[in-house]
Amino acid sequence: MDFDEFRARGKEMVDFIADYLQSIEQRPVYPAVQPGYLRPLIPESAPQDPDSYEELMKDIERVIMPGITHWQSPHFHAYFPAASSLPGLLGDMLSGAIGCIGFSWAASPACTELETVMLDWLGKMLNLPKEFLAGTGSEGGGVIQGTASESTLVALLAARRKLVTQIQATSPDVEENIIMSKLVAYTSDQAHSSVERAALIAGIKMRKLSSDDKFSLRGETLKQTLEKDKAVGLIPFFLCATLGTTPSCAFDNIMELGPICNSENIWMHIDAAYAGSAFICPEFRPLLNGVEFSNSFNFNPHKWLLVNFDCSAMWVQKRSEIIGAFKMDPIYLKHDHQDSGLITDYRHWQIPLGRRFRSLKMWFVFRLYGVKGLQEFIRKHVALAHEFESLVRHDERFEIVSDVVLGLVCFRIKGTNDLNEKLLKKINDARKIHIVPCQLRDKFVLRFAICGRTVESKHIQRAWQIIQESATNLQNGPQ
Ligand SMILES: *Cc1c(COP(=O)(O)O)cnc(C)c1O
Repeated sequence: MDFDEFRARGKEMVDFIADYLQSIEQRPVYPAVQPGYLRPLIPESAPQDPDSYEELMKDIERVIMPGITHWQSPHFHAYFPAASSLPGLLGDMLSGAIGCIGFSWAASPACTELETVMLDWLGKMLNLPKEFLAGTGSEGGGVIQGTASESTLVALLAARRKLVTQIQATSPDVEENIIMSKLVAYTSDQAHSSVERAALIAGIKMRKLSSDDKFSLRGETLKQTLEKDKAVGLIPFFLCATLGTTPSCAFDNIMELGPICNSENIWMHIDAAYAGSAFICPEFRPLLNGVEFSNSFNFNPHKWLLVNFDCSAMWVQKRSEIIGAFKMDPIYLKHDHQDSGLITDYRHWQIPLGRRFRSLKMWFVFRLYGVKGLQEFIRKHVALAHEFESLVRHDERFEIVSDVVLGLVCFRIKGTNDLNEKLLKKINDARKIHIVPCQLRDKFVLRFAICGRTVESKHIQRAWQIIQESATNLQNGPQ
């Protein structure tokens, strides 16, 4: 492909993308294919001689689209949103073209410096304490990780390194593996599976503490467990609190947990993967009160802030604690400015070496929406969630299972779990909308998340009608 052809194909591709997104609601949101559907549709090996572009594009509709779950469809209400916006797509396109690998400042200064400033912009949108912002002369700062899972793992590893170093500073004879075997971390029984996984990867004991009847982890629960663990010689060192849990969008009580962590020398990490985006609205910002007690805080603009995947924003109050855990300096990565104290080498802040120019798409989104545009988007989604909630409440066959705070509604048909499982299957099998369930205590619950960028009231009304009809069919139909 030469540049002339690239110009032509590129313009066609933008049209193809615009057509796809503009007409996405006409497609069944969930694919009808069976596992293994794709292999028979394409050759067994790569072509020896080049295929034509026309042939390739024809295969997009034939091979790919039948197997796509359309996450950007306004009929998609599963999981949490996967952010996507037109400015975000354009920013990402340019990032792909620049194609730099920004592991150090010298590896592409703009890639590093824009990231630092974008994390400050975003931190200011959330009204984070200035300790987390890099441009305030503080010791903190932000970084873009690929996912919330990586942020939790990085925080856990940094906390572990910090504690081992502290203990060895006063007791140099205690071996690292002895300390490690006594460490214990905490999270709630509502935390995302990636938190438990981080502990598994790090080889650390992790306790899942019981949440209260609002699915919130409370200070008293942590305190009691700490006492027991310390009494048997364990060393508590890490807590991952969640703001906006995955099953029900519940909020751990960080105002209670934070001071306990601070006085017990426990690193508090906050995972607000989904809910974090809402904190740019002053009316939702109180949910973040207590962040000042945390060592690290993370949320995913790639979930709900219109910045296309992947973009997980993480801040720390002390850069040195995260860099201290991961720093390696082989000769081929050294550069002239690295010890000047003026620059950031993000490779010390993350697990991989390579990193994409992800701040570019943030810059496009923040500038082309403005803070007001982003706030409006969040508010619209929250209003749609309340609209759905009120539809559910008006049908006495159904119940709302947990408080609707942001864009997620947990509901179920009154009756057995089995009945709810059947209802879910009926809804998804029709492929007109897509939702996923969750388990809350002993209840099988349906989750309705407001996801698509273009979702409107009419989609919510239609979705509810489909759910109601499925329930009616289920109750009348053969058992
Ligand atoms: C979605 C989610 C995650 C996982 O996010 P990734 O960025 O895919 O790792 C973690 N925690 C919570 C609370 C989530 O909702």
